[in-house]
Amino acid sequence: MPELPEVETITQRLKDIVSGKTFADLEIHHPKSFGGNPQDLVEQTVRDVTRRAKYIRFHLKNGLNLVTHLKMTGQLIYIEDGARVGGGHPTADWTRDLPSKHTRIAYTFADGSQLFFNDQRIFGWMRLMDDQAWQETLSKLGPDINDPTLSVDYLQEKLSRRSIPIKQAIMHNPIVCGIGNIYACDILNKTQIDPFKPSREVSRKELESILEEGQKIINRAIELGGTTFDGKYVNVDGMSGGYQDEALAYGRENEHCFNCGSTIIKKKIAGRGTYFCPNCQK
Ligand SMILES: [Zn+2]
Repeated sequence: MPELPEVETITQRLKDIVSGKTFADLEIHHPKSFGGNPQDLVEQTVRDVTRRAKYIRFHLKNGLNLVTHLKMTGQLIYIEDGARVGGGHPTADWTRDLPSKHTRIAYTFADGSQLFFNDQRIFGWMRLMDDQAWQETLSKLGPDINDPTLSVDYLQEKLSRRSIPIKQAIMHNPIVCGIGNIYACDILNKTQIDPFKPSREVSRKELESILEEGQKIINRAIELGGTTFDGKYVNVDGMSGGYQDEALAYGRENEHCFNCGSTIIKKKIAGRGTYFCPNCQK
């Protein structure tokens, strides 16, 4: 599942390429994947491409926004003269001819270049929305973890009455956005905090370290182009990321902890595999 760094990576890659381009046509291969009137997109120029939480937003000249959420298996792949840029859930569609059987929407720009939205499981979507609908989409979400204005005071206020494990709390979007399972495991390992610790028992000092290390880890993951855990796709140019080579705890069961040398173990929290060190995270 693409997390914030992967979504930010796609956003940055597409922003540089797609800004200024005009949609000429689109083919909707699966009606559930597209929301809005397709005609509102035709002949519209992209002003900018930005990200908030895990939403990618194409700002259009007519004031509408083409917003996408990749969910579990979504991909955006831009193709121009055979060269590909994009990302998302790694599958064979990263390299095979497109459209494929997983292509849900195929956009063609006026210059002939194309953008494909592929999604195996069809939980993802792309929707046209005005600014008001966009604001409503965000209304229940907390700030992004890498928002420079995010404060320890805010985290303390949100967590001080909660008994859920701290790992579950920092992954909860109404509190803070952008910490998926990979990065939650790594942030808590780096800060040496027990992922099962009830949120209200996490000290202010620990929250300070979660904020500081959380921002460092997320920003480092963005620098590396996010995480590509499927070994078959780690070297696909223009698509893959490199954070997996620097993961601290996630995916490292039975390997040594970089803090203390003990062995990383795996347990479930709220149904999600949680990798941590029982020696230094207690
Ligand atoms: Zn350790």
